[in-house]
Amino acid sequence: MKIIDHIKQADGKTLFSFELLPPAKGKGIQSIFNTMDKLMEFNPPFIDVTYHREDYLYKEHAGGLLERVAYRKRPGTVAICAAIMNKYKVDAVPHLICGGFTKEETENALIDLNFLGIDNVLLLRGDARKGDADFIPTPGGHAYATELLQQVLSMNAGHYLHEDMESSEQTDFCIGVAGYPEKHFESPNFNTDFKWLKKKVEMGADFIVTQMFYNIDKYKEFVTKCRDNDIHVPIIPGLKPLTSKKQLIALPKIFHLDIPEELSDAVDACKTNADVHLVSQEWMVNMCKELIDFGAPVLHFYTMSNPGPTQKIVEQLA
Ligand code: FAD
Repeated sequence: MKIIDHIKQADGKTLFSFELLPPAKGKGIQSIFNTMDKLMEFNPPFIDVTYHREDYLYKEHAGGLLERVAYRKRPGTVAICAAIMNKYKVDAVPHLICGGFTKEETENALIDLNFLGIDNVLLLRGDARKGDADFIPTPGGHAYATELLQQVLSMNAGHYLHEDMESSEQTDFCIGVAGYPEKHFESPNFNTDFKWLKKKVEMGADFIVTQMFYNIDKYKEFVTKCRDNDIHVPIIPGLKPLTSKKQLIALPKIFHLDIPEELSDAVDACKTNADVHLVSQEWMVNMCKELIDFGAPVLHFYTMSNPGPTQKIVEQLA
């Protein structure tokens, strides 16, 4: 079922959903099932599974010579989605990214998803590879999420690459895109980034999932700005519990987001990671309650495949 229909069916009640990472290459799927077993008690209507490109691995040869080889650390998104749907009877939402894939590879993945009966996709550009200063589009691939979106919209209209329309089956993917309440880190300013978000929605995106945030005012301002600018699709807040003190520096650095002083002072005063969990839990529970009151359609948790901290929060809300 499409995410927009899950939201309609909930009739104003806030739903819970979760994002999982495929296991690292060579690890079995059992860790995904263990995580799912814990999260199913919250009746998620859908589960997101992230998509990953190949990254660089450095192999050292005799004489200290370093060889850079490409490897994909977390393959398996499509198969994990199929396994989750089959075993748990919930919708799985695969992410698809531009970086690392040609248009043909993306089309093949979409054909697989269509055959599997997967109704939703979340479309993203992807980030620069480790060691690259900027995002470099793959030759024959897409440079921006707008281009990937155009490809999926074309398939939804029956246009496949290098085919004429007459013989092609129309897909019917419900399409999500990313939104940034505190702007995307590469964008020169909020309004420029917002212009591209609006473009994605005008092109035909059905829902938005936000980057994580810890300052609820940023989400509320973002939703208000969207509504004032004729963006009326569901805006699903993305939430990530803090699990270590190091994240006080890492998250603002990587994602350019604001951690309110009250939260950062409380985390900074923690002696152990267990203390950080407790501080984060209290902050997130309060934030989630406010999000529910504000009318957030879904609370979407980035679990990083570590369901414990998310479970403790959702238990206090469900
Ligand atoms: P875009 O929408 O393409 O935007 C990228 C930048 O370019 C922005 O600064 C924007 O303002 C600008 N821009 C956008 N369109 C255009 C255009 N047409 N012309 C010029 N400039 C433009 N990464 C993964 O690798 N795998 C995942 O599974 C994954 N899941 C994610 C889930 C969520 C909910 C979020 C928020 C992020 C996720 N990411 C994932 C990270 C994401 O790939 C990065 O945030 C990436 O840097 C930007 O992706 P985007 O889709 O927002 O890019």
